[in-house]
Amino acid sequence: MRLSRFFLPILRETPKEAEIISHRLMLRAGMIRQESSGIYAWLPLGKRVLDRVCGIVREEQNRAGAVELLMPTIQSADLWRESGRYDDYGKEMLRIKDRHERDMLFGPTNEEMVTEIFRSYVRSYRDLPLNLYHIQWKFRDEVRPRFGVMRSREFLMKDAYSFDLDAEGARTSYNRMFVAYLRTFARMGLRAIPMVADTGPIGGNLSHEFIILAPTGESEVFCHEDYLKLPVPGADVDFDDAAGLQGLVDGWTELYAATSEKHDEAAFDAIPDASRLSARGIEVGHIFYFGTKYSAPMRAVVSGQDGQEQPVHMGSYGIGPSRLVAAIVEANHDDKGIIWPEGVAPFDIGLANLKAGDASTDTVCADLYAKLQAGGKSVLYDDTDERPGSKFATLDLIGLPWQLVVGPKGLASGTVELKHRASGEKESLSTESALARLL
Ligand code: ATP
Ligand code: MG
Ligand code: MG
Ligand code: MG
Repeated sequence: MRLSRFFLPILRETPKEAEIISHRLMLRAGMIRQESSGIYAWLPLGKRVLDRVCGIVREEQNRAGAVELLMPTIQSADLWRESGRYDDYGKEMLRIKDRHERDMLFGPTNEEMVTEIFRSYVRSYRDLPLNLYHIQWKFRDEVRPRFGVMRSREFLMKDAYSFDLDAEGARTSYNRMFVAYLRTFARMGLRAIPMVADTGPIGGNLSHEFIILAPTGESEVFCHEDYLKLPVPGADVDFDDAAGLQGLVDGWTELYAATSEKHDEAAFDAIPDASRLSARGIEVGHIFYFGTKYSAPMRAVVSGQDGQEQPVHMGSYGIGPSRLVAAIVEANHDDKGIIWPEGVAPFDIGLANLKAGDASTDTVCADLYAKLQAGGKSVLYDDTDERPGSKFATLDLIGLPWQLVVGPKGLASGTVELKHRASGEKESLSTESALARLL
């Protein structure tokens, strides 16, 4: 992408309305724009990161055996009357009337709808287990939308729903998502800790929140500090091996970790002083097992081996990709700007032409640009006539992992400069060595 043709509305001033660093940096880097309270447009740079985050989420859901579909954002109130949640959900639900005065709503979550889909088609235990997920916009009329996309009213959620014949099967489905979540967050360069959590209005009795420690987090959390170094399962996990999955989950749940709602002071005090971590955290994912809470009232039943009909056991599994983008910035920045982990960066490389219009820098840049892209790298090529200082500041602000700088001085001695954004290390290299390094 040539910067001269891209849309990157950088703000030089720090926006006053933004209270936390990720919100400030996302506004300054031209990633998002507030359209109403808690409602954001994703500008091109932000959209690219959001897509990469969703891409990782999708790959790991698919790897774990979940199947993607897409449900609508607008739902009928009648479905929610069936489960009994229409009245319970309260003011967080955005209620809408259509032209026929029918009660509709903008979905805050999809348990009812997915249960309705399931019950319309699935009749037999032979079709189980089944896990259906989508990545779709949600609306919750939050009392206090704040911190940009960290707590917005309209936000993106990946929500998966598992269906099993019995509690034992449901436990395996839960474990699949548990392990998939560990991998998902690790691939984004984040250390998310699964903590025993309250089940809230969704209900149920087995639940973990995946929490990223951060001083600006809204949750108060308590855990053993060994969670910061536990190994994350590799891509070779066998998601069909129930015992193996249980072993992995046991390894990740035997140490103490709980959110304030579930905090057990005595259990926490039993941890040696030096290993006790009491901190603030950001909830980036949440998994629940809730048995037949929806399937029983909504009659989502299958016939079992004995031919008897029984309500299916369900779980639901949420991740907030839009919140994650902010959480990644919160965890990866310095005083100059964002430092994207490679797996989610909007472009792999920023290529800066320090003297656009100069025959030699133009030629070398065009060649590097073509070769890097041919090698599968995404490149933001700054071909504008901004001053070098401003180009460097922009590149640091938008935080691409690598900066490749081409100027007339370096070229006179046959070199370009390669800078690694995270370490700040700079090297003067021939164009060939720079390419070899990046490809
Ligand atoms: P919170 O405690 O932050 O209000 P929640 O517990 O209400 O979140 P869930 O119903 O568990 O959220 O939804 C699953 C995921 O969706 C959350 O873990 C979070 O990543 C994301 N999410 C929820 N609410 C928001 C929001 N207002 N803005 C952005 N992401 C959100
Ligand atoms: Mg909430
Ligand atoms: Mg919560
Ligand atoms: Mg939650």
